[in-house]
Amino acid sequence: MKPDLVFHPTVVTPTARAALKAQTPLVIWFTGLSGAGKSTIANGLEQALLTKGRHTFLLDGDNVRLGLCRDLGFSDKDREENIRRIAEVSKLFLDSGLITIASFISPFRQDRKIARDIIGAESFIEVFIDAPLLECEKRDPKGLYKKARAGSIKNFTGIDSIYEQPLSPEVHIDTFKNDVEQSVRIILDYLEQRASQ
Ligand code: ADP
Repeated sequence: MKPDLVFHPTVVTPTARAALKAQTPLVIWFTGLSGAGKSTIANGLEQALLTKGRHTFLLDGDNVRLGLCRDLGFSDKDREENIRRIAEVSKLFLDSGLITIASFISPFRQDRKIARDIIGAESFIEVFIDAPLLECEKRDPKGLYKKARAGSIKNFTGIDSIYEQPLSPEVHIDTFKNDVEQSVRIILDYLEQRASQ
């Protein structure tokens, strides 16, 4: 707690920013194992939203770790701080009126709960991008599982660091059964159904 700091509301409000963009801002939070398809589907989703005239931003794992979080590693504590910072940035984008897609392994339930609390449950959509570990390891798009199995990467999720599956995500996609296009469609359908409620 910082007792001398007081949150100062801005004159232009988040509601006014969203109204100008004629959209309901959201944070669509992807979680899942490396290689499950988060980045691929997140990019497909952002393209689809853009085509529909939505204002978006995509925050993606490696990109954030190369900049905002470049001082952080993969210990449990650093992973927690990584997610906290991403959640705070997502909240800023949310308040700027954007539909924000956050694509991170985010392996721990408690950290995802912190993200939900920072962003606000009413604006947070957890999307579980699910594929069996064996399948992710077979895909191994960045060769990271191979390195983890060889011991040259430590604390790798699924190998020597745990992944805690979401218990009740808003959307659950099995990318073993659904291709990229179908996966994007499932999320768009969810968003449409949610908007009509
Ligand atoms: P992550 O961001 O979860 O680490 P990536 O999207 O970077 O995963 O990589 C997933 C890899 O799996 C990509 O090479 C992608 O082409 C491939 N892939 C195969 N089937 C699927 C699918 N159904 N959905 C998403 N990606 C798939």
